[in-house]
Amino acid sequence: MIGMQTPIIDYINLLLETVGEDSGEVASYIPELARADPDRLAIAMATLDGEVYVAGDCDVEFTIQSISKPFTYALAIADQGLDVVLKHIDVEPSGDAFNEISLDPVTGKPRNPMINAGAIASHALVRGDDAEARVERILELYGRLAGRPLTIAEDVFESELSEADRNMALAYMLRTAGTLDGDPTDVVRGYTRQCSVSVTVRDLARMASVLAAGGRTPNGDQVIDSDVNRQVLSVMATCGMYDSAGDWLTSVGIPAKSGVAGGLMGVLPGQVGIAVFSPRLDAHGNSSRGVRLFERMNRDLGLHLMAGP
Ligand code: GLU
Repeated sequence: MIGMQTPIIDYINLLLETVGEDSGEVASYIPELARADPDRLAIAMATLDGEVYVAGDCDVEFTIQSISKPFTYALAIADQGLDVVLKHIDVEPSGDAFNEISLDPVTGKPRNPMINAGAIASHALVRGDDAEARVERILELYGRLAGRPLTIAEDVFESELSEADRNMALAYMLRTAGTLDGDPTDVVRGYTRQCSVSVTVRDLARMASVLAAGGRTPNGDQVIDSDVNRQVLSVMATCGMYDSAGDWLTSVGIPAKSGVAGGLMGVLPGQVGIAVFSPRLDAHGNSSRGVRLFERMNRDLGLHLMAGP
């Protein structure tokens, strides 16, 4: 990899220099996110053997938000088994906005674990003696994936919790439908803490690289079982980009997950984990420059999994 280092760094710097004008707005429904510097821009690529290449604002921390959803879904499956999890959460793309108050009319379940209803249900399926223990186990998993201990941005947590009525409504609706055990208020509190974990693009790229490696860290630690990993990547591919998942899969073609703080993580199985950060969001809630950067990388590097030889 030594000889490769300079071309990769040059390439990702070039990406940032040429990404062009930004558009969209930073998320404002969480007051603390509205204070983010909208011009931040960073990218990281992490190989399966643990090299991480970075450019731009690569040490700036932001909250993981919805990019937490695939990892907590993995932990829920590891704890409960896939059959149990599928009894609570479907795996169908919804085409709905991330916070849509909806359950599938036929099954009565959240349509998938990447929208809030399904993510709240996944959070509740993680084992733990109480709400705090659940969050501790989630944080521990995220830290193992990132290769360093991670912490919660308490200011963002408090800020989101003060505006969490919609997620509370979702949790109560899940309980009424019989898909949520436990106290909805505790679950939403824990889910909000999970979304408030502070990361950099380095962390997200490294987390993505573990998914790219079938759940194994560069140290050879099988943190996510390979069957679980496949389930998570499949759901990311079909449901990871809010209500533009179809556009994403056709135009970029790799499993990915975005978050409302402006992070966007993509996984090229067997090869690399990529993360970008740029806080202004498009109409679907995805980082607008982030999406453009991935489209460009697909054109330059041929990321698309459905591309022919
Ligand atoms: N914590 C956010 C929420 O539940 C996550 C949303 C997102 O990143 O899509 O509203």
